[in-house]
Amino acid sequence: CGIIGYAGGDSDDTVLERLLNGLSNLEYRGYDSAGIAVANAPLAVEKRQGELSELERALAGGGTEFDGSADSETGIGSDAVDGFDGPTGIGHTRWSTHGPPSDVNAHPHTSPDGSVAVVHNGIIENYRELREELSATGYEFRSDTDTEVVPHLIDRERAKGADRFAAFRAAIDRLDGSYAIAAVFPSCETIFVARDESPLVLGLGADGNFLASDVPAFIEYTNQVVYLDDGEFAAVSPSSVTVSDELGSVVEKSVETIDWDP
Ligand code: GLU
Repeated sequence: CGIIGYAGGDSDDTVLERLLNGLSNLEYRGYDSAGIAVANAPLAVEKRQGELSELERALAGGGTEFDGSADSETGIGSDAVDGFDGPTGIGHTRWSTHGPPSDVNAHPHTSPDGSVAVVHNGIIENYRELREELSATGYEFRSDTDTEVVPHLIDRERAKGADRFAAFRAAIDRLDGSYAIAAVFPSCETIFVARDESPLVLGLGADGNFLASDVPAFIEYTNQVVYLDDGEFAAVSPSSVTVSDELGSVVEKSVETIDWDP
């Protein structure tokens, strides 16, 4: 179970390569499914039960679209996969707690009309009551996961007129349990992040910024990190990282330098 996110662009590696490299560097944490979302319009989402190679095969359409330029680690070449060429994206490896391993239960999970995509590590303890509440207002659930309430909660806040970050905060505010959560929206370069009792670290890069469950996910790109604390939120964009507390006040975080070799 692991999370990766990258907001950047303007680099030789595509967002897809960085996400897939990040997920493969988190493999040691164990997982049964993997998936990614890139903030194109519409959102580009691919997810598969099984090894990372299953996800890569799905992305590469069986590998036939890619020639000798394929990256040796990911199998995905530097050519952008159709629809996955945006500057910002998130990825997930799942260790299932609610709902068996399957393509549908794999993350990211999206709202019905694809207005937001969410990855989550942890357990949402009050998901049953949230699911009932959302179902009563017309939301249909596709997966058996606890996580799927989150995109629907965000979507409902957006429908009430909240901006992206306010909607994200309002949704997170409804959750009991443990979580590291990241969300992306169509055509939005910023990733929204929250943590409570699940690990989450931010990486400040030269040409973009990262978030992940653990430093190995992005250490080949940057050793400048900020550890999120319980109850904190972050907005991660290609040019900035802003951490805030539960009330929305900006928190000044110290940047640490990781001094081990990748
Ligand atoms: N509880 C979520 C699920 O079962 C997330 C599991 C995880 O941390 O990977 O889908």
